[in-house]
Amino acid sequence: MDTVAILFIVLLAILLGWALAIAMSRGRTMERLEEVTGAVDADDVERRVRMALEQAEDARWVAEQTSHDSGYLTELLTSGIVRLRDDLTVESANGAAHVMLGRRLGSMVGRSALEAFIDVRIEGIARAAMEFGSANGELTVRSSSGATVTVRARRSPVSGVWLVLEDVSELRRLQRIRAEFIDNLSHELRTPLTTISLLAETAARDAESASPRLRDRISKIEVETGHLTQMVNELLDLSLIESGTSQLLLDEVDLIRVARATAERLRLFAERQGLRIDVEVPDRVSPVRGDEDRLGQVLVNLLHNAVKFSPDGGQILVGVREDEGNVRVWVRDPGIGVPRADLARIFERFYKVDRARVRGRGGTGLGLSIARHVIESHGGRIWAESEEGSGSTFLFTVPMAPPATGAPQATSGAVVNGSQPASGAVGESGATAAGKSADAVPGSDPG
Ligand code: ADP
Repeated sequence: MDTVAILFIVLLAILLGWALAIAMSRGRTMERLEEVTGAVDADDVERRVRMALEQAEDARWVAEQTSHDSGYLTELLTSGIVRLRDDLTVESANGAAHVMLGRRLGSMVGRSALEAFIDVRIEGIARAAMEFGSANGELTVRSSSGATVTVRARRSPVSGVWLVLEDVSELRRLQRIRAEFIDNLSHELRTPLTTISLLAETAARDAESASPRLRDRISKIEVETGHLTQMVNELLDLSLIESGTSQLLLDEVDLIRVARATAERLRLFAERQGLRIDVEVPDRVSPVRGDEDRLGQVLVNLLHNAVKFSPDGGQILVGVREDEGNVRVWVRDPGIGVPRADLARIFERFYKVDRARVRGRGGTGLGLSIARHVIESHGGRIWAESEEGSGSTFLFTVPMAPPATGAPQATSGAVVNGSQPASGAVGESGATAAGKSADAVPGSDPG
């Protein structure tokens, strides 16, 4: 055989092998396609592939429509919706967001959050949301509108952050008007109240030899004036706290000392009702960073309630302990308890459980609401655990102070500085900002 014939045969063999390989690979591909799609033959494979392609096309169309539709929906919203990328540039913003921030429509997209909002706080809020999942804040827009805008930031599960903006300018304006009104009213009420209080005191002295009936009436005037005084103080306090214009005087506070001092202040009041106050504390707990007067006033409120809502006799327990980065304080009483349905609501202002139940026990329904404001402005939490008829435990936590804190300082928070003239000036020597005063307690409680 000559060389050409051999080469020809080799070439032919290669070609045949190649064709065979292609055929086998096609066969394998077909087999795999049949296996994956569950088809029975090549025609069935083709039919199924076509169907899958059609479905993919439908899905793409639906996704496109949904995207258009949600874009349309965000434009219908009156809340501002802004989406920030991970680098804190604006990816999208709806019309309401542009209006709220006083920007020309479309001008926010592509800008940094700082440029778009002209307020450094927005970066803090967005970064906090990225880190912790969510964050809230309030900004004042620096445009002609000067709007006050709340920002709720949520980390997107995909990337970046969603911001929901609400214009609360009108709400804040009305809150300011309400606070001013209560402030004025309380101040106007103070003068006549102080006069009535002094007159009743003098009358009580002058009436030492008068009939028991007259003495009883004068004493009732004193008691009711005490109630009114307390109510005026609490109203004033709450309005100051809620307006957010007040301050906390921060320092390192030992809550064991506060608990002991408060228990001491209310001991006499409790004993008159045959109740014992016991303090259950370890040798020491870490200090918290807070306003000692304010925290003391919260405990006065809780202990005062514990006495007020307990039957004569029995034990009230005040406890303090460390609890995962916080210091926890609680007041347990053997009293009438709070029905389950009311537990969450008793911290609302003016909320009282079934007024008939507590008839004769006075009170404004403001004490717990003030206590909640104070504790929350310390970054803490307050709640109650109770079974109706078998006592209650009121608890709060305050974060421990960071290791090296400096000298006492004032911070603008949501809580009034207890030394403000607005508080403590009505009649009673011990009437204080956060409500019930230990000194005023016995005299002001008819029950
Ligand atoms: P008040 O001035 O009426 O005591 P608070 O805000 O302090 O106002 O309390 C709100 C309501 O919560 C009370 O009126 C009472 O119904 C309920 N409450 C508070 N503390 C206790 C307690 N220790 N035991 C039972 N009920 C309580």
